[in-house]
Amino acid sequence: MRRWNGWGDDGTSMELGEGARAMLAQRLGPGLPGQDASRDAILAQVPPSRLPGAHAAIQTDAGLRFSMALGESFADWIRKRFGALPPVPDGVAFPESSEQVRELLALAQANNWMVIPFAGGTSVAGHLDCPISARPILSINLGRLNRLLHLDTQSQLATFGAGTPGPQVEAQLRAHGYTLGHFPQSFEYSTVGGWVVTRSSGQQSLRYGRIEQLFAGGHMETPVGTLTLPTLPAASAGPDLRELVLGSEGRFGILTEATVRVTPLPEHESFHAIFLPDWDAAEAAVRTLVQRKLPLSMLRLSNGIETQTNLSLAGHTLLIGWLERYLALRGCRDDKCMLMLGVTGDRRSAPQALREARRTLSAFGAVYIGTAMGSKWLSNRFKGPYLRNTLWDQGYSADTIETAVDWPNVKPLMLAMEQAARDVFAQYGERVHAFTHLSHLYPQGSSIYSQFVWATAAGGFAANFERWQKLKAAVAATIAAHGGTVSHQHGVGRDHAAHLADEKGPLGMDTLAQLCRHFDPKKIMNPGKLLQDEGPWAS
Ligand SMILES: Cc1cc2nc3c(=O)[nH]c(=O)nc-3n(C[C@H](O)[C@H](O)[C@H](O)COP(=O)(O)OP(=O)(O)OC[C@H]3O[C@@H](n4cnc5c(N)ncnc54)[C@H](O)[C@@H]3O)c2cc1C
Repeated sequence: MRRWNGWGDDGTSMELGEGARAMLAQRLGPGLPGQDASRDAILAQVPPSRLPGAHAAIQTDAGLRFSMALGESFADWIRKRFGALPPVPDGVAFPESSEQVRELLALAQANNWMVIPFAGGTSVAGHLDCPISARPILSINLGRLNRLLHLDTQSQLATFGAGTPGPQVEAQLRAHGYTLGHFPQSFEYSTVGGWVVTRSSGQQSLRYGRIEQLFAGGHMETPVGTLTLPTLPAASAGPDLRELVLGSEGRFGILTEATVRVTPLPEHESFHAIFLPDWDAAEAAVRTLVQRKLPLSMLRLSNGIETQTNLSLAGHTLLIGWLERYLALRGCRDDKCMLMLGVTGDRRSAPQALREARRTLSAFGAVYIGTAMGSKWLSNRFKGPYLRNTLWDQGYSADTIETAVDWPNVKPLMLAMEQAARDVFAQYGERVHAFTHLSHLYPQGSSIYSQFVWATAAGGFAANFERWQKLKAAVAATIAAHGGTVSHQHGVGRDHAAHLADEKGPLGMDTLAQLCRHFDPKKIMNPGKLLQDEGPWAS
């Protein structure tokens, strides 16, 4: 069963080995295991619904309403853990068709309710937060729109109910010999519609593309009508209206059906570990690979601190010691960086791409280690977030912040993001363990994904929320100063909305506000997300 106050299925956990625990204690000092609130204590605080008996399709049970109130951001996490209840939706509906979504939107509009679409609930940017408002809030849960509706094998297009989660997308396609190839780390729960409206990126985006490239068309129910996006191989018919749906974050309407571009299952797929002597060599190597446009499916480059962290997390102390000695002999010492490289395709071209990549990398001092670590990565590809539960139990908090920027700014921004975090915690006389990888690489630049671990503070929700707000603000300001995007893959939601104007400019922000007014004149759709046009919020 899905954990109510942590990540993932409660039957799955990730252990922190001796080495990793020692590393955290040495870098951060002892942790402070939290006193978790019980679910019953939280549910006792849920106020009565303002929608009792409003409609047969709307459920008002307190537990159900609470489970739609929060996503998976750090703020959401500590609210659940410390029992700091924010406003919760007044009711939850589970439509089973586009028509039912349309009826619910009409009902909400007629009664001046707010609507928050809820899909996989994996947002890490406050997309699902409820504002403090006199207007009742209806959560529209898309979990029953979860089927493959049509597969056109000639055009390689598959149409899904927008609430279909990752495992069901892949299982239903696999039965026909196809894959979507979209594997965000939240794959177990996040949905095809959620991916589209947050502009998501999967681990093998190098081969399959981001969701923008995969989304071919669909239906969006808006308060003023249905927006139908036909599937076309290409068109020069004015601006592409798919762009209005991509990244719309529930502001313009509810995507009920999504047609996506699928690919036959590959004949060959393998993942390979390679070490490079230091960051400069490693960055130049991956930039060369991606600019040569070799047909690889994944490049994931860890910086020196992340490489050390991953090696200490790997356990197998003797084996890792042996590996480190071997790498040192080959010139990869304390600053070494690990690259995980994926090749996916047919039996002939995939090994050829690997050979070509290895030849290119050898000019940068790369040491090829083989597939053992790559196979381990593959079997654990969705398990990393489970460490957050384990860390919390040991007294440590964790969060991630990501962006993307052109190549000249990749290294300066990566270093500045880590430093900004260290400066924030230094104000409290505390330390943070900051490390980074590049996992979505483009000829023009790269995503930057930094992870932060720190000792959970005494002082409950307020003290921990304050530290997190300062961390987010400082890193966001650093990103803006270096010309990075507000978000490469997690979206804007509520948490990043304050910084969107830096990226879009006044005219751009006005355009977005006009679009909101156009599709949603009564302002019922997910207010306060993407744009800062609603509040106040629980503090
Ligand atoms: C552990 C973890 C790992 C993650 N890894 C990645 C990653 O690798 N790559 C990545 O891109 N993201 C990642 N994310 C972020 C998150 O999974 C994505 O933003 C995802 O696309 C959200 O999908 P969802 O179905 O869970 O949507 P939700 O979280 O339920 O909703 C997100 C927003 O979209 C709106 N919405 C959802 N569905 C619809 C719809 N059909 N129509 C209109 N509005 C809708 C909601 O109202 C909300 O505003 C991760 C998150 C977690 C917790």
